[in-house]
Amino acid sequence: MFSRRILAGIQPSNVPHLGNYLGAIKRWVELQNSGEHLIVMLADLHAVTLPRDPKILRQTILETTSSLLACGINPDKSIIYRQSQLPHHTTLAWLMGTLATVQQISHIPTYKSKVKDEESIPLGLFMYPILQSADILLFKSTHIPVGEDQLPHLHLCTTLIEKFYHIYKKELFPMPKPMFTETNRIRSLRHPENKMSKSDADPRGRIDIMDTEDLIRDRVMKAVTDFESRITYDPENRPGVSNLIDIFSGLTGEMQEDIVERAQLEGLNTKEFKEKLIKIIIEHFKPFRIKYLELMNDHSYIYDVLQQGQAKAAVIADQTLNEVKQTMGLD
Ligand code: AMP
Repeated sequence: MFSRRILAGIQPSNVPHLGNYLGAIKRWVELQNSGEHLIVMLADLHAVTLPRDPKILRQTILETTSSLLACGINPDKSIIYRQSQLPHHTTLAWLMGTLATVQQISHIPTYKSKVKDEESIPLGLFMYPILQSADILLFKSTHIPVGEDQLPHLHLCTTLIEKFYHIYKKELFPMPKPMFTETNRIRSLRHPENKMSKSDADPRGRIDIMDTEDLIRDRVMKAVTDFESRITYDPENRPGVSNLIDIFSGLTGEMQEDIVERAQLEGLNTKEFKEKLIKIIIEHFKPFRIKYLELMNDHSYIYDVLQQGQAKAAVIADQTLNEVKQTMGLD
């Protein structure tokens, strides 16, 4: 009854990093190229949950869009647009938000972990999961590529669908299913106990996918490992080295065991393994970087792409919102 539609979101608050690429973007491009109906939403409303410098945000929106296009998101096949440009998101967030309870949100682990040290809790943090549900529902999305940490948000979305049905007796939305990416979480190069993250205060923990070759070399060479120089895969006890192997695996498609076996046969120590990995990262992103720099020279093209995506997204969003309003007596 509902056709397959995948909603993928990314906060445009920085050039995507290796974790975003391996855990999300690479997979989105594969889904798109296999003929799936993909919508890529630049989650700029989510990005301002905590205040941002407007000048920097404008710039990072351009950078994120260019990165996505350079990595293979094709605006002729997929919809790519900015969340803030469709007021439907916030309207639907209000309508669906009326069905949620304060207790429900307070129990979501990502919310709890974000507010645990805060004396006064920003309302935006509280609203975040509701807006995320609205994003999903607006497109009647059937599949959501998410990390495991986002599952409770998806669960909230399904309970809102159930409640909506219970009250209004109308089945307007499909139950969205999670789609997991196969890659392990990529970890910070400096603190491998944490995941690689845009919000990491220490940029040395990250490799942004459009970084220069020199910067990539520097970041990998300085990646924290341990006192053992042999290459073995043991995420629990050797998170630093194992993270490098995961990156290697994500970029080449080889299994971790095979990578380790070859490295041991070749007698590589961690430094030599890092040198090999650097070459792979640089080669992988070289064509993307050329395209990215080309795109960043043509801002009007990027805005055009986003505007066209917005027009296509608006057709679907208009229809859903009208149905919801009609069902609720707001037509
Ligand atoms: P964000 O911009 O933080 O919303 O992340 C965009 C996408 O990248 C989401 O699908 C995340 O699950 C994914 N992602 C973020 N950080 C990592 C990481 N360190 N490893 C793997 N995937 C990640």
